[in-house]
Amino acid sequence: MKCLGVLTSGGDAPGMNAAIRSVVRTGIYNGIEMKGILYGYQGLIENQIIPLDMRSVGDIIQRGGTMLKTSRSEAFKTKEGRMQAYRVMREHHLDGLIVIGGDGTYRGALAMTQEGESVVCIPGTIDNDIPGTQYTIGFDTAVNTVLDAMNKIRDTATSHERIFIIEVMGRSCGKIALQAGLAGGAEAILIPEIQPNLNQIALSLQNSMLKGKKFSILLVAEGVMSGEQLQSKIKEITGLPTWVTVLGHIQRGGTPTAFDRSLAAHMGSEAVEALLNHKKGKMVTWNCHQIGLKDISDMLSMSPEFDQNSYDLAVRLSL
Ligand code: ADP
Repeated sequence: MKCLGVLTSGGDAPGMNAAIRSVVRTGIYNGIEMKGILYGYQGLIENQIIPLDMRSVGDIIQRGGTMLKTSRSEAFKTKEGRMQAYRVMREHHLDGLIVIGGDGTYRGALAMTQEGESVVCIPGTIDNDIPGTQYTIGFDTAVNTVLDAMNKIRDTATSHERIFIIEVMGRSCGKIALQAGLAGGAEAILIPEIQPNLNQIALSLQNSMLKGKKFSILLVAEGVMSGEQLQSKIKEITGLPTWVTVLGHIQRGGTPTAFDRSLAAHMGSEAVEALLNHKKGKMVTWNCHQIGLKDISDMLSMSPEFDQNSYDLAVRLSL
């Protein structure tokens, strides 16, 4: 291995820059020429490649988003698209590729591996929905963003004695809502993994009010229903008014937390070491404070683990 490339693909996540920095500096430390591919797989097809040195990744560790930009590429899902990408890789003498992204990005990486390319993946997604790793880069920052919003909303909720609904990201995975709800003391957490009992939630809100609890915060992951839909259901069942806040894309941005930055540092370094040791078709994982490697193909055949303990605990503590 003499020359490696790095790209970010799919949805951006805070900490991707810290991962790029780690990849580039680990590569250069090992005497490898490093190149950055702009706009993910699409940039590979379109030959948007830049040289990266130690300095080009300076002053990015604290920034959200990705300095390499990102995109979604339909062309890369086709064999012709990928063949064009491989031609560009040969032109730039790229011996291997590190891709940072979510499960869609992994599918692209698996196709590349099956077609003979050397690829290692780093999990970068706020959703934390990649099986085989307890943490993905960006999740901790997103949870802290939601927690910060909850704290602020709680001030108004307590002062005005109101019920607030906060809609958070999570189409098929409710980990952001669950983790933020547990840490922030939400009265109810609605996530796609658990069929919500709306009657029970609404009636327990009503009971709490009758017993003197004057404010509540409910978290709903977008994959369950919108905040507004939940608002009308609660109104329909109990007649209680509620206030809705949709956090939206603020959950994707912001300066990465210490945890996400150190996770990115470890994962970036491990990804380069893996390629230098001729391992391919792997993803970097973080389990029980240990860095590791798993086959992408294994990961894609698994479902993300659901943290039932945390959910049960959040329910018990919200009484
Ligand atoms: P994320 O990586 O955040 O899950 P996407 O699902 O949009 O984001 O996937 C990112 C990109 O990965 C897609 O735009 C596409 O270029 C590539 N990709 C996704 N699925 C495949 C596939 N089956 N084969 C090849 N490339 C794929």
